[in-house]
Amino acid sequence: MNSNSVIAIHGGAGTILRASMPAGAEAEYHAALHAVLSAGQRVLADGGSALDAVSEAVRLLEDCPLFNAGHGAVYTAAGTHELDAAIMDGSTLEAGAICCVKRVRNPVLVARRVLERSEHVLFSGEGAEAFAAAQGLEFVEPEYFHTEARHRQWLLARDQPRAMLDHDGAALAAGHGDPMQYEPIDPNRKFGTVGAVALDLHGHLAAATSTGGVTNKQVGRVGDTPLIGAGCYADDATCAVSTTGSGEMFMRMVAAYDVAAQMAYRNVSLEEAAHDVVMNRLPKIDGRGGLVAVDARGNLALPFNTEGMYRGFARLGETPVTAIYR
Ligand code: ASP
Repeated sequence: MNSNSVIAIHGGAGTILRASMPAGAEAEYHAALHAVLSAGQRVLADGGSALDAVSEAVRLLEDCPLFNAGHGAVYTAAGTHELDAAIMDGSTLEAGAICCVKRVRNPVLVARRVLERSEHVLFSGEGAEAFAAAQGLEFVEPEYFHTEARHRQWLLARDQPRAMLDHDGAALAAGHGDPMQYEPIDPNRKFGTVGAVALDLHGHLAAATSTGGVTNKQVGRVGDTPLIGAGCYADDATCAVSTTGSGEMFMRMVAAYDVAAQMAYRNVSLEEAAHDVVMNRLPKIDGRGGLVAVDARGNLALPFNTEGMYRGFARLGETPVTAIYR
C-alpha cells in the first residue's frame, strides 16, 4: 500500500487576472476544482487505480462549462468545436488518444477505450468517432458544446490575427487590455485545457489531459494535448504529467516527456525537472503555461509561468487544496 496516494488537477493557465474575474466567479472555480478533487480522492480511497481516478476527474472537468474541454470548449475559426484528449497508464506505458472529434460527449472516455481496447494509440476525426460509436460511447449534438462565454470570446478573437488561449480570451472578453497588444496564441491570454495526474494506493501513476484547443484555431489544428509526451505522459519509474499552455511550444519541447526524461537521465527530483521545463526551457521559445505532475513517492509539482493556473491537489484523508493565482 502506498500511503502517499494523491491526485492533482489543472483547469488551464494564462492571464487569469483578479480584476477580470466577474464577481462570484472565483468562488465558482474553487468549488468546481474542489468537487472534482473530492471525486478523484474517493476513487483512490476505494482502492481504485490511478487510471480510474484521472479518467473520472477529467470526465467531470469536461462536463463543467467553466473549463475549455467537453461542454464549454472553445470555438474554431469556423465557429465549430474540435476536441482532443489523451490518457496514459504509468504501470504499463499503455496510452490512448483522440483528436479533432466533434460529437463525443467525453473525449477522455474515448481515449481510455483506445488505451484499453485498441492496438493503436491515436485516432483522429471521423475515425475516432467511428471507434467511439463502435464502443457504445455517448454522442451529443454539436450545440452541446456551446456556452455563451466561449462564444463571446470567439467573436472577439475572430477579429484578431491568430488563435487565442482560452483564459486569455476571457480576459479580453472582460475588457482587460488592448486586444491589439496581444500576439496570437499569446502571452497575455489564458489556456483552459483540463488535466489530472494521480498516484494510487498500489503505487501506480496515470495522467490524462483534455481540451477544446485554442480559441479561433484553424480547422484541423491539433495541439499538444492528445500527443503522448507533449501534453500527457506517465511512467511509474519517474512521474505522471499533464500540461496546459501554448500547445505548439509544448509539442516542440516534448514538454511532458521532458520532465520524466530529466528525472531518468539527469537523476533530478520531480520538482527540479518540472521547474526546468516550465521556467527555463519553455520560455526560451515563448512557451507559456504550466503543468501538474506527481512522482511515485507522491511528491507534487504544479509550476506555471503565466499569471495564474486553475489547479489543486488532494491527498487521501486531507481536505483538497485549490488555487488560481500565483
Ligand atoms: N495546450 C492546449 C492546446 O494547445 C491549450 C490549452 O492548454 O489551453 O490545444
